[in-house]
Amino acid sequence: LEAGDAALHGTNDDVDQPEEEEKEDKATQSLLNKLIRSNVVNNTNQVEVLQRDPNSPLYSVKTFEELRLKPQLLKGVYEMGFNRPSKIQENALPMMLAEPPQNLIAQSQSGTGKTAAFVLAMLSHVDPGLKWPQCLCISPTYELALQTGKVIAQMGKFYPEVKLAYAVRGHKMERGVKIKEQIVIGTPGTVLDWCVKLKLIDPKKIKVFVLDEADVMIATQGHQDQSIRIQRMLSKGCQMLLFSATFEDSVWKFAERVVPDPNIIKLKREEETLDTIKQYYVLCNCKEDKFSALCNIYGAITIAQAMIFCHTRKMANWLSAQLSKEGHQVALLSGEMVVEQRAAVIERFRDGKEKVLITTNVCARGIDVEQVSVVINFDLPLDKDGNPDNETYLHRIGRTGRFGKRGLAVNMVDSQRSMDILKTYERHFNKKIMRLDTDDLDEIE
Ligand code: ADP
Repeated sequence: LEAGDAALHGTNDDVDQPEEEEKEDKATQSLLNKLIRSNVVNNTNQVEVLQRDPNSPLYSVKTFEELRLKPQLLKGVYEMGFNRPSKIQENALPMMLAEPPQNLIAQSQSGTGKTAAFVLAMLSHVDPGLKWPQCLCISPTYELALQTGKVIAQMGKFYPEVKLAYAVRGHKMERGVKIKEQIVIGTPGTVLDWCVKLKLIDPKKIKVFVLDEADVMIATQGHQDQSIRIQRMLSKGCQMLLFSATFEDSVWKFAERVVPDPNIIKLKREEETLDTIKQYYVLCNCKEDKFSALCNIYGAITIAQAMIFCHTRKMANWLSAQLSKEGHQVALLSGEMVVEQRAAVIERFRDGKEKVLITTNVCARGIDVEQVSVVINFDLPLDKDGNPDNETYLHRIGRTGRFGKRGLAVNMVDSQRSMDILKTYERHFNKKIMRLDTDDLDEIE
């Protein structure tokens, strides 16, 4: 490998590990995805439906009218800008609104319309004349519960008789003072307290029980047991609904305990491919070298929007400062920022107000920023043990299905080790990664 010689002598003065960033949890990612999402995710895969009773007809709807919603809810749906049901909603909504009520386990990636679907189901089943909780939704965190609450408020805009209560930490309630709101949304611990200790909710009167973000839920110590304890207090006739973005075995086992006799709906994530991506590598010796290589191609990459990935916060901060010194406008997405700040940065980037976004791997993991046409791996993606991470490489630079535009990926290689890693990516995906001479850019222009 010709990379070796010079590179081997390169100093690696950025040895700090991204340890703190590893704590980045699923709940934060999920919240970020919610905050930055403005549209429903396109997905060309077929929805898989498994009916509890395979002999009953399978209903699906192509319009919201077919669902015979209450007029004030239909108005709310249109006010939100929804024209027709999303892919998962086509099947999930008729099931959730059927009489008698049916239980459902639904899995599809974030942004495919799950929340909107169960919010509509809850609002449809509520009797506003009755002044007690009838729908109960549990979420993994306070912030996620608030987000769902916002959707309930928006969709129920023309249905003001229906009221919402938050069962979340800090919401101090007196024992025995019954709650009048028809919909309660909260976190498992507080909901359990409200049902058992404080007796504010009569679980027997709940008609619809929703467990949202099951995969995030079970990642938190104690939430699984609390959820199951809540579920056991509900009456037999209560409709039980569970949603998850992913479905590992552990989520599946949990789902089956929470939802008896379920219908099951799954929508596979659209596969990412490198087919439409031109991949290059640049040989460098050290980070300063990588920086000047980046400056050389800067004009070419900023014709489009570019995302630059670094291994650590320290490196991302350094690079951002260097580029700013050169007079370039760059945005930095860092784990040091609070979620709202991060969402604001991503939103500016998505809206095209920023051309270049620098970030760390961990900070951007799990966040879907589509339509980026240039990706620079200032540092190659590695797993936490420092080994090649095929999945992250693909997720950073890959595109999905037929929505994928052509893209460009540039990998900065600064040692024999990183050259070896690059070669494993090349072999794994069986796609050539070409050498780029940054003093001669005819190739990429
Ligand atoms: P999920 O719960 O699967 O993450 P959401 O229900 O939050 O998905 O929907 C993702 C985004 O798509 C939200 O901005 C939501 O307002 C929007 N959305 C949901 N359903 C539809 C629809 N039928 N038509 C248009 N937009 C929709």
